[in-house]
Amino acid sequence: MTFSLLLLPGDGIGPEVVAEAKKVLAWFQANRGLDVTTSEDLLGGASIDAHGVPLTDAALARARAADAVLMGAVGGPKWVGQSYDKRPEAGLLGLRKELELFANLRPAICFPALADASSLKRQFVEGLDLLFVRELTGGVYFGTPRGIETLANGERRGVNTQVYTTSEIHRVARVAFELAAKRRGKVTSAEKSNVMESGLLWKEEVSALHAAEYAAIQLDHMLADNCAMQLVKNPKQFDVILTDNLFGDLLSDEAAMLTGSLGMLPSASLGAKDPATGKQAALYEPIHGSAPDIAGQGLANPCATILSLAMCLRFSFNRGDDADLLERAVSATLDAGIRTGDVFAEGCTRVGTAGMGDAIIATLDKLK
Ligand code: NAD
Repeated sequence: MTFSLLLLPGDGIGPEVVAEAKKVLAWFQANRGLDVTTSEDLLGGASIDAHGVPLTDAALARARAADAVLMGAVGGPKWVGQSYDKRPEAGLLGLRKELELFANLRPAICFPALADASSLKRQFVEGLDLLFVRELTGGVYFGTPRGIETLANGERRGVNTQVYTTSEIHRVARVAFELAAKRRGKVTSAEKSNVMESGLLWKEEVSALHAAEYAAIQLDHMLADNCAMQLVKNPKQFDVILTDNLFGDLLSDEAAMLTGSLGMLPSASLGAKDPATGKQAALYEPIHGSAPDIAGQGLANPCATILSLAMCLRFSFNRGDDADLLERAVSATLDAGIRTGDVFAEGCTRVGTAGMGDAIIATLDKLK
């Protein structure tokens, strides 16, 4: 089967890290019979400079047609101060919205070689492998009514609305249960059912779906504030954490810090699977930004983007073995002491962006 992948390198270090993912993709094409056609387009500031908008209709159409999209990062000081619709970030938000990417997957994996880079002691993070499934298109960031008004007495009042429906909860919970079935079989659903009706609905609907369709999976419920504490107390208790947009934003950033560096963390955002064709919109991207402070210097760590490609192999191209191989290659390269500056430690060999990509490819050659 031939898959199609749209590359959107974006701004800052985006093109540098996506270039390394392209080299890795070429290795899988040459060595593992991976059949992928790639195309490339502009996103964010690069698109504003060329076309006046952060996401063109043509780029969006290409994203819709592709089996998957791999993005670098968008943004930078050059475009600060532009109106909201002319900001690079509007291109990324537009892409997520138009492709209806409601499930955001963020693994927090601590590679053994980097356990000492974590803010927690090695024993708490070594071997950590948890996965956040965050609802991405609903909840308080999108609910209405919203806004700021001035009251009759001259006071100002700000309003946002936390709102979820059964179908919004079920579709993201389904993603979490199905992923857990392929992992250690455990989902922890985090909400604030003690003080929020929307949290109670979340808990009840997740439980109902679980009882009806996923009883073989272990389901635990946890209040989101307790989840924040448990993530630093005993993060290895978790397998898949399912949560809403707001709590997911905070908790997944907290978990990210357990693993050491922004340069190591991939993500995927998935839409609904078309029951007829099986096609599922998917956007893969590192969680870091465009890092203007190091852009253009060949210093960026490409691992987060290469690991995002591994997620793409697993979820969009059905190549779980290739994804495992790539993740093993990244881990073994770190074990060998090859490091970019952000994860550098005494006694290691310091390399730049291309050097890290080349070292991962050399490890793939050895492992295959
Ligand atoms: P950032 O993630 O770009 O950088 C934060 C720090 O981490 C910087 O010191 C940077 O050098 C370092 N860093 C990030 N990625 C790295 C990598 N791969 N290797 C080595 N070091 C790395 O966050 P920021 O500085 O707050 O934002 C910069 C720009 O990126 C802003 O315009 C922001 O809006 C944008 N941004 C975009 C995304 C995205 O595209 N998804 C996400 C976050 C921020």
